[in-house]
Amino acid sequence: MRFEIVTIFPGFFAGIFENGILRRALAEGLVTVGVHDLRTFTHDRHRTVDDRPFGGGEGMVLKAEPLAEALASLGIKPKTERESGGDAAAGTRVILLSAQGRRFTQSMARELAGLGGVKLDRVVLICGRYEGVDERVNELYCDMELSIGDYVLSGGELAAAVVVDAVMRLIPGVLGNEASGEFESFGVADAEITSDSVGVPRSQHGAGGLLDYPHYTRPAEFGGLRAPEVLMNGDHLQIRRWRREQQLRKTLANRPDLLEGAVLSAEDRRLLEAIRREAR
Ligand code: SAM
Repeated sequence: MRFEIVTIFPGFFAGIFENGILRRALAEGLVTVGVHDLRTFTHDRHRTVDDRPFGGGEGMVLKAEPLAEALASLGIKPKTERESGGDAAAGTRVILLSAQGRRFTQSMARELAGLGGVKLDRVVLICGRYEGVDERVNELYCDMELSIGDYVLSGGELAAAVVVDAVMRLIPGVLGNEASGEFESFGVADAEITSDSVGVPRSQHGAGGLLDYPHYTRPAEFGGLRAPEVLMNGDHLQIRRWRREQQLRKTLANRPDLLEGAVLSAEDRRLLEAIRREAR
């Protein structure tokens, strides 16, 4: 998988992928990242990438021409030509980072990582700045507009780094333990988990869209608080049950909206009702 990032601040990415899992994935060649300076694709003395908005108003807008040239240099054609462009085009997604985009989620990260069926070779990320990008770039070239959350950043670079991180760690081979990308917040349901966990106690049920459970490590006693006894008694069935209940509690407390789309068993629903009664 290759990520191509188009930005006016290429220096932003120096060092950002040089830690932990991402660094290893890059070193092992499981993933590559190209950072492209938009100013390279300008032709005037001032290397102008922006201009005033038609219709007036605040700020500046990133111009279409340098972006189109940057995309052409990556072999990216307008969408209408790409649709009939064969396998290479089919394996590419062009994404505009934008506060106006669809909200980026773990399930989108899974799709981009190729876990949703379509295997992608390349994800191109266009970072906006100022008031944003000339909308014709979106219309002509972008497969989707993605927002990393309901707030406005000053540029798409942080958002691009978030997308690269979230997608890259799901690419097969990147996480040391294959299963850990499944057993975590927003993870898939048990039925969708393909990893072989024979002989290894599953750390939890597949999250099925819930948040993760709380984690503890040594020492058993800290700040006057003892880690939950159930985690130290070695009974894996009890541990799984406790963790599932904690997932339900956390999700109900912090992200009740997730419960609507979550995959819940009859036992989950009973537990949830009991937790809700407790709170009344
Ligand atoms: N005028 C735009 C609006 O109100 O939607 C905001 C532009 S913002 C100051 C500049 C750039 O930051 C955007 O073009 C986009 O690339 C990026 N950006 C800002 N917020 C973002 C978000 N929540 N997710 C992804 N990218 C974002």
